[in-house]
Amino acid sequence: MKKAIIIGSGIAGLAAALRLKKKGYQVSVFEKNGYAGGKLHAIELGGYRFDLGPSLFTLPHLIDELHQLFPNVEVDFNYIKKKTACHYFWEDGTSFEAPADLENFAVKAAEIFDEKQNTLSKYLQNSKMKYESTKSLFLEKSLHKSNTYFSKQTLKAILKIPFLGINNTLDQENKKFSNPKLNQLFNRYATYNGSSPYLTPGIMSMIPYLELGLGTYYPQGGMHRISQSLFELAQKVGVEFRFRESVKKINHSNNKVTGVTTEKGTHDADIVLCNMDVFPTYRQLLQDIKAPEKTLKQERSSSALIFYWGIKKSFPQLDLHNILFSENYKAEFEAIFNNKSLYEDPTVYINITSKQSPQDAPKGCENWFVMINTPGDYGQNWENLVIKAKKNILSKIKRCLNIDVEELIDVEYVLTPQGIEKNTSSYRGALYGAASNNKFAAFLRHPNFNKTIGNLYHVGGSVHPGGGIPLCLLSAKITADLIPNTNA
Ligand SMILES: Cc1cc2nc3c(=O)[nH]c(=O)nc-3n(C[C@H](O)[C@H](O)[C@H](O)COP(=O)(O)OP(=O)(O)OC[C@H]3O[C@@H](n4cnc5c(N)ncnc54)[C@H](O)[C@@H]3O)c2cc1C
Repeated sequence: MKKAIIIGSGIAGLAAALRLKKKGYQVSVFEKNGYAGGKLHAIELGGYRFDLGPSLFTLPHLIDELHQLFPNVEVDFNYIKKKTACHYFWEDGTSFEAPADLENFAVKAAEIFDEKQNTLSKYLQNSKMKYESTKSLFLEKSLHKSNTYFSKQTLKAILKIPFLGINNTLDQENKKFSNPKLNQLFNRYATYNGSSPYLTPGIMSMIPYLELGLGTYYPQGGMHRISQSLFELAQKVGVEFRFRESVKKINHSNNKVTGVTTEKGTHDADIVLCNMDVFPTYRQLLQDIKAPEKTLKQERSSSALIFYWGIKKSFPQLDLHNILFSENYKAEFEAIFNNKSLYEDPTVYINITSKQSPQDAPKGCENWFVMINTPGDYGQNWENLVIKAKKNILSKIKRCLNIDVEELIDVEYVLTPQGIEKNTSSYRGALYGAASNNKFAAFLRHPNFNKTIGNLYHVGGSVHPGGGIPLCLLSAKITADLIPNTNA
């Protein structure tokens, strides 16, 4: 039986393990932590459960596909479709419960923001066109293999290029709305891949279609069930997991991978898939080959500062996803990307899973995941920044929601960019690998295979097609498609 080693059990590592098992490989996953899931992890604190990382779940069929690879193996994984995408709040008292449905969104947004319904409908249809005409080229295939460019779908995507908004920024693309609040609302989608709306290309206006057209979902039991159900499935089908065993070196000979060396020993393999961020992969595990410096120099995506608060009260005006918008969005992104600092009036995201799973908090209480976008770790004094940010967030909540939340905080846990890097080895604590702050970013991402070492592959948020759960799952799929079945 041919042997495959996977370095890391993030969502892409788990998906790749299942896909290679299906292809007939004997699969071992080496994970430096004592648990599977990487960023998709959870904690319990004083009777509250918190998902530590992702909170928004789209394209659930990509998880179903993995379960369906082994139809006779039962693992519990269920999810519900949300009717409401997000509750938005501004300081002037405007609030908007955004329906997760294109038509209803256009009707309701037209009413709240005094915008023409037709302008909104056209924008959302354009978002759909952008997604549908480019997904097969940019999201489902390797951009680094020549045969990608000789398909009918690629030709279709290339013909659409003049209509994709590639030469505009997302903000310019969103200037068509007369109400600046709508511009801000649609600019927010740049953060779904850790970029700035004032830099990322207008093609990113396809993202609203994912959420409002294809839907937003909630996995029963929380986001952690995504990684846990894949981990359970992998164990049941015979994938071996070696926890607390960090890989120190990728071994190769005559430009072909031969295995890995961990802190406990050397292990041979026919193929190796690396789910570790590409930056530390080259700097730590592949010090003996020339690194692709241009790729590694790409600007990193934003990171986050998250306060996990158990709150001794419940708030009917809040839902699963809530956003309190900054008064000056442009200044906020300049602080994050230009000054590598935090803005004093941050946009605050509050995720409350106890709205969907009441068992996530004691009766009458809520589990608040309170996040602001931040730069990565460039050596800032995070201890000071956490103190300042907490003050600014509490004051923002007071101004937007009229809630004095400080006295209601029952338990607290804090995660900084440094903590994210420590937990998962993501360079600078980036949430999504490289930022998409220019129109060439997609082509600059690291390929899913190694150009120097044969049979060495790369999956996860730092490689093609990018970060976020759906793209990480697609990276595992693209990579598995490059690898032959063991009997081929
Ligand atoms: C706070 C936060 C919020 C987010 N919100 C969302 C969201 O709402 N929706 C969304 O889709 N995405 C979101 N993301 C992004 C998403 O979580 C990531 O893109 C995705 O989970 C990355 O998965 P990955 O497979 O690349 O690996 P990671 O999750 O980064 O895991 C890599 C794994 O490799 C292991 N590892 C690293 N080095 C070694 C080594 N040398 N040896 C052995 N093991 C090693 C690590 O311990 C880790 O387990 C968020 C991320 C964070 C942190």
